[in-house]
Amino acid sequence: MSRHSVELKTDEQIILMREAGLATAAALREVRKAIRPGISTLELDAIAEATIVARGGHSNFKLVPGYSHTICASINDEVVHGIPSATRALKAGDIVSIDAGAEIGEWNGDSAMTVIVPNEDGSAVDSDQVRARQILSDVTEGSLWAGIAALAKAEYLNEVGLAIEEFIYSQGKYGILEEYVGHGIGRSMHEDPAVYNYAVREKGFKIQPGLCVAIEPMVVAGNHRTKVLKDGWTVSTKDGSDASHWEHSVAVHENGIWVLTAEDGGAEKLAPFGIKPAALS
Ligand code: MG
Ligand code: MG
Repeated sequence: MSRHSVELKTDEQIILMREAGLATAAALREVRKAIRPGISTLELDAIAEATIVARGGHSNFKLVPGYSHTICASINDEVVHGIPSATRALKAGDIVSIDAGAEIGEWNGDSAMTVIVPNEDGSAVDSDQVRARQILSDVTEGSLWAGIAALAKAEYLNEVGLAIEEFIYSQGKYGILEEYVGHGIGRSMHEDPAVYNYAVREKGFKIQPGLCVAIEPMVVAGNHRTKVLKDGWTVSTKDGSDASHWEHSVAVHENGIWVLTAEDGGAEKLAPFGIKPAALS
């Protein structure tokens, strides 16, 4: 990807992008509240859609040619791009990653989370397999925040991927997807530059005010190799191992960074790194 095609955003544009980010965050929050055994991924899709529309936006996933849903819901060995289905019901102990994005006006948000489906009574399923799934999700989320924290201090974008990779491998033997990476975000959900989740030799884009990126580590319990299922979308692990996906859209500006798809701008999760996100007004 050419670094010349990166559009830097003004403070005013970042403030507008925050509306799309917050609508995306709200959609994921409502989906999280609804996740329970027996609910279908199509029902979750409807909840996300209604939440985004209520905030004056629309789904940007629906703008992707050939895709007609608001979320991707990827269960267990599925990593990303799972298609919501009325016949796909969640089971207690499943590990499900939900990815969603809102467009408001000209501006886009993009965020993903992983949830371990609890029992009917809200308690966690008590098994070694499900505990391992929670740890996989925690490691993936931790790597996302390590990457965001790196962005706050980095000179070049490759420092983000290095921080993500170092965090993941410090936690155990996990696989990091290589064919799917993060991206710039703004007037389109997917823009330059690419944001790798692993160390690359090229320094990448120079971090500067106005850079807006979606950072999205995709981490698996086994080997990183994936396949696309017959539906043409769902990406799952080749070895059947479990997967997790976490994502936030983040803006760099004159006074620091702001996590556009976090309701607190990232304050809570960045505090352990000694980083205070700076709001724009
Ligand atoms: Mg996404
Ligand atoms: Mg994305």
